[in-house]
Amino acid sequence: MDTGREAAPWCWDLPEFAPGTVWLVGAGPGDPGLLTMLAVQALRHADVILHDALIGDRILAGAGPGAELEPVGKRAGRRSPRQSEIDRRLIAHARAGRRVLRLKGGDPFVFGRGGEEALALAKAGIGFRVVPGITAGVGGLAYAGIPATHRGLTGVVTLVTGRGSAGTLPDDIDWQALALASPAIVFYMALGTLGIIAERLIAAGRPPMTPVAVVSDATTERQSAIVTTLARAPREVVRLGARSPAIIAVGEVVRLRRTLAAWQQVAPDGGTVLDTEHRAIADRLTRAIG
Ligand code: SAH
Repeated sequence: MDTGREAAPWCWDLPEFAPGTVWLVGAGPGDPGLLTMLAVQALRHADVILHDALIGDRILAGAGPGAELEPVGKRAGRRSPRQSEIDRRLIAHARAGRRVLRLKGGDPFVFGRGGEEALALAKAGIGFRVVPGITAGVGGLAYAGIPATHRGLTGVVTLVTGRGSAGTLPDDIDWQALALASPAIVFYMALGTLGIIAERLIAAGRPPMTPVAVVSDATTERQSAIVTTLARAPREVVRLGARSPAIIAVGEVVRLRRTLAAWQQVAPDGGTVLDTEHRAIADRLTRAIG
């Protein structure tokens, strides 16, 4: 029977990457399988790719053979170029008629300064396209078995940065509101400020026993997670040496991980990602059901 379907899913009409334009693209949290089709299109056709340090080699391997790679993130202690320098390079490459891919981890508009770059391009009169990506605070948590929202547990989730432009905890956070009005809170860039975050939330009325998950390198082969409580979290991340980048989830949704993480198939190769804690739970569950 002829269904009229095309054989290959990549036959969808994707927009052309026009010379002299910039695509601001989110690459997702790490697993190449989480790239959007527009991100793949951009990788294949870009002449130059300015990418963050968080973009893994497996994703960059998808770049076309002629693409020039320009890392612009902090790496191995080297300072990253200033934001104004990145904006300048994006504009210069576009004016030289190149197809410019600005590739960022997660979603470009979620703590990624994508908005600043888009404003700079708009001001310079450069045509651009924003390609959303899967943000680590939602997709990364999902790979660790933690839904960002769950009926009956939370209808509100708040994304918070643990590091403001001064490099310290932002001073414009309403801790009272955050502690009491958001059943689920997801912190980005917060490993270094977790001590003060926990202290402020508890002081504002969040119970010390609130579950917390710290998920490092989410969606990559190195994914690992620590599950603890708000009161213990700052000590636990030091004791267990939690790695950066890490997403920190606070709230009852973390408890769902006990059931969900042990069973879901999430590794990039189709296998199951089992860190130490997962494995212990999986073993227990396997024994329990014989
Ligand atoms: N635009 C990105 C966030 C950039 S800020 C996004 O939407 O996901 C960088 C922070 O993102 C890191 O400090 C960490 O908190 C988080 N992050 C990014 N990738 C991650 C990953 N694979 N695992 C855990 N956290 C990640």
